[in-house]
Amino acid sequence: MSELYKLGIEAAAKGLAKGDFSSVELTQAVIDRVKAENPRIGAYLTFDEEGALAAAKTADEARANGRAGMLLGIPVAIKDLINVKGQPCTCASKILKGYVSPYDATVIKNLKAAGATCAGRVNMDEFAMGSSTENSALGRTVNPYDVTRVPGGSSGGSAAAVGGDMCIAALGTDTGGSIRQPASFCNCVGLKPSYGRVSRFGVTAFASSLDQVGPMTKSVTDAAFLLQALAGHDEMDGTTPDEPVPDYAAALAGASLKGVKIGLPKEYFIDGLDPEVKRLTDEAVAKCAAAGAELVEVSLPHTEYAMAVYYIVAPAEASANLARFDGVRYGHRSEKSDNVFNLYARSRAEGFGPEVKRRIIMGTYVLSSGYYDAYYGRALKVRTLIRRDFEAAFAKVDALLTPVAPTPAFKIGEVQDPLTMYLNDLFTIPSSLAGNCAISVPAGFTAGARLPVGVQFIGDAYREDKLLRVAKAFEEAR
Ligand code: GLN
Repeated sequence: MSELYKLGIEAAAKGLAKGDFSSVELTQAVIDRVKAENPRIGAYLTFDEEGALAAAKTADEARANGRAGMLLGIPVAIKDLINVKGQPCTCASKILKGYVSPYDATVIKNLKAAGATCAGRVNMDEFAMGSSTENSALGRTVNPYDVTRVPGGSSGGSAAAVGGDMCIAALGTDTGGSIRQPASFCNCVGLKPSYGRVSRFGVTAFASSLDQVGPMTKSVTDAAFLLQALAGHDEMDGTTPDEPVPDYAAALAGASLKGVKIGLPKEYFIDGLDPEVKRLTDEAVAKCAAAGAELVEVSLPHTEYAMAVYYIVAPAEASANLARFDGVRYGHRSEKSDNVFNLYARSRAEGFGPEVKRRIIMGTYVLSSGYYDAYYGRALKVRTLIRRDFEAAFAKVDALLTPVAPTPAFKIGEVQDPLTMYLNDLFTIPSSLAGNCAISVPAGFTAGARLPVGVQFIGDAYREDKLLRVAKAFEEAR
């Protein structure tokens, strides 16, 4: 079997450009790998083999006619909440079983325009609510580094596909950590762009003031290539500003940590951190220092409120967003209803899983009259304070370095209590609330179990160029 599936974007694009192999060969290698590994790992929910090969052939023909480009002929795995015309889009929920997308999301349009192929759909927590992919209603995904453990979530299928070499790169989404935490668990690079940097049009909404699509890749350079295709203004998403997109790959040239000011937020280096995560984070700090970075202790004093704010704001927005799944317009419709109220209630009761119901109930509660000001209104105010913490920090430093998650990948079934599960996102949620960009980069493996662990760099809003430079320099320093 050809081992081309091991390549990332950069190496695959080079090989394709030199004519070492064709996109059809590359795609076939990925398909063979998926067939061999997916029964064990469960990263993909569906894979349109014919479509993938047809798109690869078209890419090869375009190349023969003089077309070039980093993504031309590259297969990218797509998280199952991003619409790709003609493919299922289930959000790993029973309520959308059988739903087929009538249009391409803007990110997909952009990828296709760059020549990438989007044929495989990867598993996730239902509607992106979760941290282990165990909330998927449609299948189990395991960690390719240890199949008794979770891949993280909610973009667990994307991370398992990248970490298990079942794709060249993948798209994930991140609302409170769903790109970064699974990237850390599966040894990949995961970039959450700044809020508004990437269009959300055609991406099933969870919490609209937080959601972002981003790259999950085998290297920082690959993340830059993918972000280039994703980022920019979209008239279909009013939160994407009409601002120029920097050349991210060019920004990586000569990346170095010399003189770079890296902030260490003291609120993130807490007791209760897994000792191996702590060791690898400390090692990452030491490597940055050895590579010439200047380390600065900073404080983000409102960090302790971030979790509470997120679990008010995100469910509130989710309860509104998920009202559209009513059994009338999309997906599952209950057979048992005799009137319209029962049609809504029963379709939703049968279609949504327990975590989604929990979020809808919490969200409806915090928005209800009498509680709105006390919970939702107050959470918005505290969110502003959290954003100001980051603004103050970035007046002093170029990037922040923190752990990604408090632990490495945990065992399947190990975390039963929702509140313990929520704690996975302790370190990723604050920057989501603030709208900053942040990236998880592999930092090494735990002693003993040999589980991958990532380190998080957080960047100033809309400075992905700068953040990627820091991440790239760290990747090289390792
Ligand atoms: N784990 C968090 C949650 O369940 C974040 C999910 C996400 O970023 N989509 O809400």
